[in-house]
Amino acid sequence: MSRLLVIGCGGVAQVAIQKCCQNSDVFTELCIASRTKSKCDALKEKLNGKTSTIVTTAQVDADNVEEVKALISSYKPDAVLNVALPYQDLTIMDACLACKVHYIDTANYEPENTDDPKWREVYEKRCKELGFSAYFDYSWQWAYDEKFKEAGLTALLGTGFDPGVTSVFTAYAKKHYFDEIHTIDILDCNGGDHGYAFATNFNPEVNLREVSAPGSYWEDGHWVEVPAMSIKREYDFPQVGKKDMYLLHHEEIEALARNIKGVKRIRFFMTFGQSYLTHMKCLENVGMLSTTPIDFNGQQIVPIQFLKALLPDPASLGPRTVGKTNIGCIFTGVKDGKEKTIMIYNVCDHQECYKELGSQAISYTTGVPAMIGTALVASGVWNKTGALTTDEFDPDPYMEMLNKFGLPWIVDENPVTVE
Ligand code: NDP
Repeated sequence: MSRLLVIGCGGVAQVAIQKCCQNSDVFTELCIASRTKSKCDALKEKLNGKTSTIVTTAQVDADNVEEVKALISSYKPDAVLNVALPYQDLTIMDACLACKVHYIDTANYEPENTDDPKWREVYEKRCKELGFSAYFDYSWQWAYDEKFKEAGLTALLGTGFDPGVTSVFTAYAKKHYFDEIHTIDILDCNGGDHGYAFATNFNPEVNLREVSAPGSYWEDGHWVEVPAMSIKREYDFPQVGKKDMYLLHHEEIEALARNIKGVKRIRFFMTFGQSYLTHMKCLENVGMLSTTPIDFNGQQIVPIQFLKALLPDPASLGPRTVGKTNIGCIFTGVKDGKEKTIMIYNVCDHQECYKELGSQAISYTTGVPAMIGTALVASGVWNKTGALTTDEFDPDPYMEMLNKFGLPWIVDENPVTVE
């Protein structure tokens, strides 16, 4: 029924593509295109004989709009799923607009070079005006809203787990459980153990930039920013157990604060073990998380990119990661004049994911929703035009597909709340 172009072939892409190939009724043809074509060819080989989706591969540098346009023009997909890096969001959106195809991604835009003076000027203005200083924000992609509307196209922004499913959970809670939502706490717990002293579960550069940034939350109509890792809570996660979690800035807060009328507070917490935090602090203190190039023996090196080359490839963690993730949201609000609290969450087992697709649960919990969002757009079930986040659509078909494609969810109507 539809032809899909997937850009990127890393940890998340490998899951999203395999899941698309389990859904051949929607995805009849699929092209895997990435910077390193050999990875696309290896995945095509792995899928051989296991799917009726017709899979092809291509090489593309998605930093180059003209290259992406040429690929879209020759392959003629109905939609493009961007599971490369957030750095490529805008170039791929430009190419989709020019070629009139739908666009889907899992993370909002941030620049690769944070020293770029043009970007920095806009960033510093935004830090002052809005009050949070993370490198990523939605303003760059929301600026495409009118253009996508005029073209009659959908740009679905952030259909991973968080952001993505967490915003669908919010839309579902609003539709079925609340007249008004007052607080949202998003809790992301990875109870998995990969046995390394230090490794990241998805792209190290993007991950370390995110977690080393100041934390922030939305309260009473404005942002409150706090030093990185300065707000800590303990939570007893169903099927995982007690874990320390820390308040982070996270992109869905921005979209939910805009779209959920009457919301008073939105926070995001992620669990980290002590070993991860100690390593990260040390790497930060010695300058290894810096995105500013340095001169080393006559060569320009970006410290965080060099670090990425040293760390285990997140896609390789699958066989050695044991334990479970528990990601979900706690909502408080009112229904029929009465106060109400619920939690919606999913538990995912690292080894089960590995058995099914050869991936760990972080790639799995991101790749499955990437496929689901893409399927809903490609099949016209989600057909609003503009640049929109997942909370802006009917959550029911998405929730059904989560159950069907490996991420079943639970509604707890009496959860423990976070202080
Ligand atoms: P990886 O680093 O494993 O994979 C990235 C892929 O993109 C690689 O195949 C890489 O190619 C390719 N790529 C990078 N630059 C380019 C380029 N210029 N042109 C073409 N291809 C390129 O990342 P992950 O799979 O871990 O993450 C993918 C995305 O998912 C990221 O945007 C990340 O932020 C997002 N994410 C979202 C989550 C959510 O819940 N919403 C959670 C986790 C991740 P090469 O092989 O040559 O390096």
